[in-house]
Amino acid sequence: MEPPATPAGDEPFAPAAAAGIHRLAIPTPFAVGRVNVYLIEDRPLTLVDAGPNSGTSFDELQRGVEGLGHALEDIELVILHQHIDHLGLVSLVAARSGAKVAAIDAAVPIVENFSIEAQADDEFARDTMLRHGVPEDVVAALQSVSRAFRAWGARVDVTRPLRDGEALVLRDRTLRVHHRPGHSPTDTVFHDQERRMLIAADHLLAHVSSNPLMTRPRDGSARPKSLVQYLDSLAATREMDVDLVLPGHGDPITDHRELIDQRLAFHRRRADKIHRLLVDRPRSAYEIAQALWGNIAVTHAYLTLSEVLGHLDLLAEDGRVRERTSDRVSVWAPA
Ligand SMILES: [Zn+2]
Repeated sequence: MEPPATPAGDEPFAPAAAAGIHRLAIPTPFAVGRVNVYLIEDRPLTLVDAGPNSGTSFDELQRGVEGLGHALEDIELVILHQHIDHLGLVSLVAARSGAKVAAIDAAVPIVENFSIEAQADDEFARDTMLRHGVPEDVVAALQSVSRAFRAWGARVDVTRPLRDGEALVLRDRTLRVHHRPGHSPTDTVFHDQERRMLIAADHLLAHVSSNPLMTRPRDGSARPKSLVQYLDSLAATREMDVDLVLPGHGDPITDHRELIDQRLAFHRRRADKIHRLLVDRPRSAYEIAQALWGNIAVTHAYLTLSEVLGHLDLLAEDGRVRERTSDRVSVWAPA
């Protein structure tokens, strides 16, 4: 038996529930486990994210909303984050309910052209992995995994694009919209200043360090430095006065400054460790990943490469390493 979407005694979320923000933990097929969807009892009746596109997830979402005394058809606004574990059911919920769909403006072309964008992302991932030394058979295997995972996403029309810094005004609360790129290029947090709460999706998670994934440049320029952006985003969130962060996975965070300090220290230590590996001898990013984690599962090749390249970007920004591109594979060395 699956546990219900909102288990009895969901205590860490009690302060949010008292403010009319109810957590529904919806199953996903991904290693991260369940995704937190939030129903905000306000006008408009608002859902933050919806879960991945699967029958099981849809059933649990529907039961969870009904358990709170509402119907899926009553939802008037859905706010979304771009990754497929949060996004996949948004279009179905919007079709059922006629809800408006809101997202940060940067996410609009990505979610409206989901298949084309996902295909282009896969091509970028393939080229990047090959350039950084991932073996061809691993790249090919990962490409088919990625194609299969795409079925858990779905395109959606955004009817309410949001700008960074704008106020999303509901009847009983105002959510200030903040763009926090890093984990994804369109990560967005929603700040209720009055209640000192932050709805943060995967920008900050209690149990795991959010992996800033390599992302395809959108304007033909250089690869975005996801980890550099992410650390800037964390620094901005650190300055916010909040008592409770409601994340996209797992339990709420009650001391965001301490957690962010731990994350910043962790990334500094990892960058130093990678620097030491390169002082030992120059290596490709994939060789660094192998030195750090040994034999890497095929499904983790892109994640670990993202992790390594993120730290190489940090070291390059500090002038500590440089990238040497030979005819095919990039090799990194101390500057
Ligand atoms: Zn997620």
